[in-house]
Amino acid sequence: MNKNKKYLIGGIVVVICAIIFIFIYPKKAPTIEPTTQIVVTKTIPEERLIGTSVEGREIKSYTYGLGKTHLLFVGGIHGGYEWNSVLLAYQVMDYLKENPEIITKNLTVTIIPSANPDGLYKLIRKEGRFSIADLPTTTQPIGTGRFNTRDVDLNRNFDCKWQSKSMWRGNVVSAGAKVFSEPEAVAIRDFVLKFNPRSVVFWHSMGNSVYASQCETGILPETIDIMNSYAKASGYNAVKTFDAYQTTGDAESWLAKIGIPSITVELKTHETVELSQNLSGVKALFEYYSR
Ligand SMILES: [Zn+2]
Repeated sequence: MNKNKKYLIGGIVVVICAIIFIFIYPKKAPTIEPTTQIVVTKTIPEERLIGTSVEGREIKSYTYGLGKTHLLFVGGIHGGYEWNSVLLAYQVMDYLKENPEIITKNLTVTIIPSANPDGLYKLIRKEGRFSIADLPTTTQPIGTGRFNTRDVDLNRNFDCKWQSKSMWRGNVVSAGAKVFSEPEAVAIRDFVLKFNPRSVVFWHSMGNSVYASQCETGILPETIDIMNSYAKASGYNAVKTFDAYQTTGDAESWLAKIGIPSITVELKTHETVELSQNLSGVKALFEYYSR
């Protein structure tokens, strides 16, 4: 190849590169005037399979909104014994779907409605979502469906002061073979570690109160704030320390241990959903985190 040919080929390559650079790459993003910006609202939640129970039932999470501050709500860790906390979670989900504007731009909200599906199944005998009409009409022994299939109290299986045996009222209960031995507890743990929520609310029954949480270094100041916000708005009592009996390995204390504010909301009875009270509490937290 003579010298002129080399220059010619070199020249053509340079021209082609220049054309690609100028006309094709990179295209500048079109400027959107503020008045024409599209507001993204997510009315349909993002559904995730976050784990499966001992008997293989799905544990799902539903996420609304696109903001940076992620709030997590969990129902049904005590299964069929506290079925009203599951129904409440589903009803709050319905409300969020119908009223997406209450989730402000800075918020993401996730609900895990049924954290112990095997325990729920023991009472309801139905997969997935249920209504009050699905409840058994005969009286059940106290505690039916509270534990998972291995008879573990899931709210004693988390990593704060864990012991293999723990207490529920006057009863000794199994807390699992080791910390996070149960797949249902692992599902919540892994969700928390992956998505790092700003705070977590657990719905239970029937203490008629909102409880703060702590492990070994005291109650986080933000936990006190959200306990008071939720309690004031909902009308439940605010209680800093649960001292009716000694518990170990509960989920809220583990969250406190890893620096995530967490509260327990206990409905008044085991049979009432108390939707409007809890919507007020939920909205108070949205407001608190939107300031
Ligand atoms: Zn409970």
